[in-house]
Amino acid sequence: MPENWCPFDPGSGKVTDNYEVLIYPNDFPAFSMDGAPFSPEPGLCAQTGARGSCDVVIYHPEHGLAPSELSAEHWRKVVDVWARRHGELAAAPDIQFVYIFENTGAAIGVTMPHPHGQIYAFPFVPPLIQRELDSASDYFRDHGACIYCRILRDELAARSRIVTENPEFVAFVPFFARWPGEVQICARRHFANVTELNGGEAPNLAAIIKTVRMKYDALYGFPMPLMMLLRQSPVQGQHPYFHFHIDFYPIQRSATKLKYLAGVESGAGTFLNDTLAEEKARELRETEPRE
Ligand SMILES: [Zn+2]
Ligand SMILES: [Zn+2]
Repeated sequence: MPENWCPFDPGSGKVTDNYEVLIYPNDFPAFSMDGAPFSPEPGLCAQTGARGSCDVVIYHPEHGLAPSELSAEHWRKVVDVWARRHGELAAAPDIQFVYIFENTGAAIGVTMPHPHGQIYAFPFVPPLIQRELDSASDYFRDHGACIYCRILRDELAARSRIVTENPEFVAFVPFFARWPGEVQICARRHFANVTELNGGEAPNLAAIIKTVRMKYDALYGFPMPLMMLLRQSPVQGQHPYFHFHIDFYPIQRSATKLKYLAGVESGAGTFLNDTLAEEKARELRETEPRE
């Protein structure tokens, strides 16, 4: 990044001079709508076109603001932009999955301090998403119920892993947390993606994101490097088994140590987590969400 210039700042010449939340086409896109369609060749080394899109969502015009410092009212504007853009991308015939996410923090590898997230519109369903869809769909078939609704009911009954909640959403450290202090925000109502948020849910989603982000940043007294990932149904087909949630993967395992994905995680897909979900939930629950 240049020292004294940021393309996301109003007046940079790269973005409009006045905005609140802005969709900006990624300058280094992995997918492009002008590209050849996704259609892998047969054979072991199959090549394909990469038709899709990569957007940056600039959360706020102010350069140095941490996401936890955006007001809940401003997060509501981000949520509305997510929903609008998701709807637009879902209407494109080549798109199978809209992935809304944020990487934040130098430790994650983010060189751009300006508050922003991303939206990838994939021409296929990515493999980890497919694995989650398959598991949820198997559970739905075998039990006649949504696994996320079941988990939420049990978390609310047990309470030991709850971090914070409001009338429409609950944030908890999942029993199966892989990252120390991993948090899932789960909708109380069963619906599948961000375009289905109703008038009461959108502001409550904004409010609980704000609270979780403030707690993370207050936990060690510096902005938590993390990934924030919206989990949604694919845009094509029917997915009655799926339930909207947001996953947070913080990579800080203590104030001074990062969690690295080493041989056991990267090579075997097995996460070693040296914390208990209940302990991290209590820490986050007791951490005051400071502005
Ligand atoms: Zn900036
Ligand atoms: Zn459900």
